[in-house]
Amino acid sequence: MSNSGIVIIGAGEAGGRTALALRENGFEGHITLIGNEEHLPYERPPLSKEALTEAEAIAPKSITSPEALEAAGIDFIASICATSIDRDTKTIMLENGTELAYDQLVLATGASPRHLPLAEDVRHCVYLRTHEDAIRIRERLERGGHVAIVGGGFIGLEIAASARKRGSEVTIIEAQPRLLARGVPAEIAAVIQREHETHGARVLLGTGLKSITDAGEQARIALADGSELLAELVVIGIGAVPNVALAEAAGLVIDNGISVDRHLRTSDPAILAVGDCASFPAQLFGDRRIRLESWRSTHDHARVAAVTLTGGDAVIDAVPWFWSDQYDLGLQVAGLSDEGTTSVRRDLGDNAFILFSLAADGRLVAASGIGPGNAVARDIRLAEMLIAKRAHPEPTQLASPDTKLKALLAA
Ligand code: FAD
Ligand code: NAP
Repeated sequence: MSNSGIVIIGAGEAGGRTALALRENGFEGHITLIGNEEHLPYERPPLSKEALTEAEAIAPKSITSPEALEAAGIDFIASICATSIDRDTKTIMLENGTELAYDQLVLATGASPRHLPLAEDVRHCVYLRTHEDAIRIRERLERGGHVAIVGGGFIGLEIAASARKRGSEVTIIEAQPRLLARGVPAEIAAVIQREHETHGARVLLGTGLKSITDAGEQARIALADGSELLAELVVIGIGAVPNVALAEAAGLVIDNGISVDRHLRTSDPAILAVGDCASFPAQLFGDRRIRLESWRSTHDHARVAAVTLTGGDAVIDAVPWFWSDQYDLGLQVAGLSDEGTTSVRRDLGDNAFILFSLAADGRLVAASGIGPGNAVARDIRLAEMLIAKRAHPEPTQLASPDTKLKALLAA
């Protein structure tokens, strides 16, 4: 291998963790990690939670330190954008005109907030993806007033909970007839909605938007039903779109993200893609192509990418898993609930429960749990192992708290 080594574009969790995992895997060549943010790779989950609620502003939660990067011999280039890839010469170009050669390239470009065209150029509308976005929202929350949230997805609901904790008046506007229409089963979405309403947030379901305009120190939101709201801050949380422009311009196959195989190789074997920007075949679910936007998935991808890049044979076969914290409620989902045709409820006590999703042939394909704090964590972990085993548990046993999930796992 020449000195050009491995270049990673995107210094978020997936890119940062891939660089570190390469060294853990014994890779001794040159590693260059390029990020267009000014920070070391950091975790985004706190941005909608602690970063908005802590009494003092908090620094980004870095996944590593300058000393650790130096000790690992990873060249980290911050605050610069990679602008093109030349696959013939195996070089990439940075926005300052620098060219870098690679033997293998990793695209870890992440995702960006989906923009709402009718909110373009409205001063009081904001999105949340970066540390700087969180600081801006935090400063606005300190001023108090009314926060309108467009989109009843994870980002909207977590910010709503944080804004209520800080004493803001909150209205959540969701076009669908329920919250989290794609993320979680209806029964769990109903619990989450109740929690928000109990804490004083207003939840408007099945409510479309007509327009949003600045009106002095407030934004004026005209709803499709003819009513109007005024808010000091409007947070838009209507999903994320994968950052594929660089890959697309280089002629790589795009399919709801940068298309990769089980080893995370793109249509060019010298280029891998990891994290939110990559769509991959989910081995556990008949190789159905999926793209995950979750913290844990970046860890799984980094681990597999490091093996692939060093000539090994690992595949992405982890069970999808994510969590969300809202007020004192902890939500955890393992597997893919849209693969299920029936569901079985298991009550855990203390208002915590799990909904197991079973496919038509009885196979366990997902488990979604909700309860105070970490109440569902242990059972979701066991459910995850059952899903990984492609288990076909008896629904009556799943439903009965007297049957330990551990026993089903051993069966
Ligand atoms: P990113 O974190 O987006 O990193 C990609 C990086 O690449 C960015 O810094 C980007 O600026 C940079 N980049 C892009 N293009 C270029 C270029 N051309 N040149 C240089 N750099 C480039 N998941 C959970 O499971 N649970 C949670 O509770 C949770 N909370 C979240 C809260 C928030 C507010 C957000 C935004 C996400 C949350 N997530 C959560 C999701 C999780 O954080 C993401 O899945 C994860 O950050 C994805 O990591 P990534 O490295 O793939 O992408
Ligand atoms: P999300 O969870 O996908 O929710 C987006 C919401 O906006 C959904 O209710 C969606 O409804 C709606 N929507 C989609 N397109 C719309 C449009 N054009 N106009 C109006 N509404 C629209 O995404 P998010 O909450 O915005 O989160 C953004 C990113 O942050 C994602 O990567 C997410 O994974 C991540 N994040 C994750 C967590 C977590 O896992 N705990 C927490 C915060 C952020 P439909 O379903 O009908 O499209």
